[in-house]
Amino acid sequence: MIHLRSDNELRVIRASGRITARVIQKLTKAAKAGISTAEIDYLAEELIRKENAIPAFKGYRGFPASVCTSVNEEIVHGIPGERKLRESDIISIDLGVNLEGYFSDAAVTLAVGRVGPGIKRLLKITRDALLAGIKQAQPDKHLSDISHAVQSLVERNGFSVVRDFVGHGIGSNLHEEPEIPNFGKPNLGPRLKKGMVLAIEPMVNMGSWELEVLDNGWTAVTKDRRPSAHFEHTVAVTENGPEILTLEG
Ligand code: MG
Repeated sequence: MIHLRSDNELRVIRASGRITARVIQKLTKAAKAGISTAEIDYLAEELIRKENAIPAFKGYRGFPASVCTSVNEEIVHGIPGERKLRESDIISIDLGVNLEGYFSDAAVTLAVGRVGPGIKRLLKITRDALLAGIKQAQPDKHLSDISHAVQSLVERNGFSVVRDFVGHGIGSNLHEEPEIPNFGKPNLGPRLKKGMVLAIEPMVNMGSWELEVLDNGWTAVTKDRRPSAHFEHTVAVTENGPEILTLEG
């Protein structure tokens, strides 16, 4: 079942989303060469708790941290640790916030210092793919219109979309129905309705779409060890079109 959120519920999810956006903004400033991913995680938890909210990832199915930090060939679910960021790395920071029982989820991929033109393009195309997906989040569109918009933009630009992980509904749980693949034909799946809240999150690989999960049971890396990027927003379907909830307000 896909929940349709009331205006009151949306108000809290929006407040949750603003916290997520503010924390990501601050982490973006902190993600410089020399900082460890554990330090980023520590900062994230401190910032979220200062907002009287709860880090939604911590303890989720046993995940040990408040953020996922995925560096270079890591796609998603990187576990923060002693690894220090180095010049020319890319890091994706993914975090979720639980405010009064309502959830938001967002991710960005950042360049640490200077990166080459290929990496810049990977980040730009992944961000563009997210925006193309979001644009489809309108009443009477089909769910797979989002998937199709993401995949076509990515593949048109010579990159590939990850198949093994998907976006998702969100609201009173971190992950709810429906699943939102980043690939597929248009005009399939349920029709979108006002009040649906969706976490749209393309994961884009520079090489092949195939992945492996490391022995820690969490971290997904590209099979060819080429870089991967990930951007995510929590979005409400409204009668006026998509509303991005994970923006600083
Ligand atoms: Mg998500």
